[in-house]
Amino acid sequence: SQDQKPPHVAIFPSPGMGHLIPVVELAKRLVVHHNINVTFIVPNDGSTMEPQKKLLQALPKPMISSIFLPQMSFDDLPADSVNETRIALSVTRSVPALRQSLKALTESTRLVALVVDMFCLDAFDVAKEFNVLPYMFTFYNALVLSLAFHLPKLDETTTCEYKDLPKPVKLPGCVPVHGRDLGDPAQDRKHTIYKVLLNISKRSYEAAGIIVNSFLDLEPGALKALKEGFYNNPPVYPVGPVVQTGSSSSDPCLSWLDKQPKGSVLFVSFGSGGTLSQDQMTELALGLEMSGARFFWVAKSPHEKTAARFFSVESNEDPFDYLPKGFLERTKDVGLVVSTWAPQVQVLSHGSTGGFLSHCGWNSALESIVHGVPLIAWPSYAEQRTNAVLLADDVKVAIRVKVNDKGLVGREEISGRVRELMEGELEGKLIRARVKELKDKACLALSKEGSSTKSLAEIAQVWVNNCQP
Ligand code: UDP
Repeated sequence: SQDQKPPHVAIFPSPGMGHLIPVVELAKRLVVHHNINVTFIVPNDGSTMEPQKKLLQALPKPMISSIFLPQMSFDDLPADSVNETRIALSVTRSVPALRQSLKALTESTRLVALVVDMFCLDAFDVAKEFNVLPYMFTFYNALVLSLAFHLPKLDETTTCEYKDLPKPVKLPGCVPVHGRDLGDPAQDRKHTIYKVLLNISKRSYEAAGIIVNSFLDLEPGALKALKEGFYNNPPVYPVGPVVQTGSSSSDPCLSWLDKQPKGSVLFVSFGSGGTLSQDQMTELALGLEMSGARFFWVAKSPHEKTAARFFSVESNEDPFDYLPKGFLERTKDVGLVVSTWAPQVQVLSHGSTGGFLSHCGWNSALESIVHGVPLIAWPSYAEQRTNAVLLADDVKVAIRVKVNDKGLVGREEISGRVRELMEGELEGKLIRARVKELKDKACLALSKEGSSTKSLAEIAQVWVNNCQP
């Protein structure tokens, strides 16, 4: 009968590999440590689903299974729509199909909870229809979550654009954040995506619980306030770091890394979707060259839109005609450049890697911390500027680059920051030591008696009890 079946959780992630990767790891933990089964219900926004399929199909069946929803059309969307609009819409349009899948799951399993991310809160209504507990998973940190809970109040009490706020936003336990460092959707309050964001903030209060991808030693102040319900928020469960554990694939970049001295290589990557403009690409190339450091750079072809590759992780334009003339030849003894996807976790865990110039996507930041790799913070879109503030000003595992009056990070700036990070005796040294310390704390949080292990056990307990009345 239903009662003998293990508790079952459905996870409905929004499109994008960066949104799927952490919940896949979460699912593995639920299966292994708590005997909870998981079904992924995956929306299809029409972009290539191959990386997603590959990731999901490798998971142990039948404990983890996946349902791919039918592809949606976005022909009616203007070409200049922001990524967030497309993500939100792909979720809204998937709700009827989600309802069918949930119905089938309630009939065949002991479905106890639906876990969704911030873009999928429409699904809360469907969860309620089936008497299933609605949970939210944050693919961001407790600072961003605190700001999200605060947003409705900030909206009510502010008349200007946030970038023009005279003082930074200061929340309990959190580092002060300037309005200009809030996420992209909060930068133009007249834009429809801002209204969407505001609505997300309001709806997140309906969650039965919020699973946060952070850990107590990383954000003690912010998590304490959230745990005490400072925002009258639902219970929060910091279960992080929830990061990819590298597979054992072989990749030419790893054999290249094998040949480099210990801790000598700077890994340079702007995430699954980030792209630079042509001018910025040139400055970065020349800055890396000027620094004299060894580097491994995932250099996707330039684009004037910063998140141009969010929906198609491949950029196929090869050879590297967008790099400065002679750059590859001049740097061939110290640098490796690829144009597509790198096995990031394996690169960060490789002994030759000593630094990470990153766009500060939260998954990347956590992966770097878990492997004790110090960062250069170069945020470009979404909530990455807020992450950079956290990493550089609060946690102190990163040096943040400065943008010049032309809106670019210049070559001297890049070269200087790279040298400081890799071998500097002042800031660099402190940061390198601090990230090693946090690496150990991350490991502790996930140990048997660790804070994050206990947090996950708490939710699991709620879910198990829910099916044994
Ligand atoms: N990633 C990777 N190889 C790449 C680019 C990205 O393996 O070349 C992985 C990375 O390890 C991380 C995720 O994709 O797990 C990117 O998530 P993040 O939050 O850092 O940034 P996003 O891509 O969502 O902006």
